[in-house]
Amino acid sequence: MTSKLLFRNFVRGPLTEAAPPVDDVALAELATRVNQASRARMGRTLSIREVDAGSCNGCELEIHALNNVLYDLERFGLRFVASPRHADVLLVTGPVTANMREALERTYRATPDPKWVVAVGDCARNGGVFAGSPACVGGVSAVLPVDLHIPGCPPSPSALLKGLLALLESVST
Ligand code: SF4
Repeated sequence: MTSKLLFRNFVRGPLTEAAPPVDDVALAELATRVNQASRARMGRTLSIREVDAGSCNGCELEIHALNNVLYDLERFGLRFVASPRHADVLLVTGPVTANMREALERTYRATPDPKWVVAVGDCARNGGVFAGSPACVGGVSAVLPVDLHIPGCPPSPSALLKGLLALLESVST
């Protein structure tokens, strides 16, 4: 049995899925517009702090994709920063769990004004598939003032960029 399984795995090759196609032109245009909008409103490029308030990590994978070799958004000036003290935008994912509530509130307080909160994914809106769990306090708006919600389970990198652009075009500093 074990030898059959080994042989089958040996002959069928890797099961890795091909990367999804990326429209480089549309991506570059979108990212450039985000950067231009950021410079017009704040005089600098956009700095983003990601906060996982209790997600399943699906939304994180899409957010991380913004910086991978396919999207590589730093070439357009968008930056993910390690500290909320350096951030303009908090990208918050997940339902907010009871355990993460205080950390989320502290992160918000540590972020200098002007700052914006973007709730990413269906769980961040109202708890999503985790709504009603005794471990969750609800969507992000149950804890922080939310400026924008980007729907999806999870939202794609392009949807994230479109959301950031909509945010920058709608706010004034
Ligand atoms: S919206 Fe979907 S991918 Fe994102 S944390 Fe919720 S279940 Fe996971």
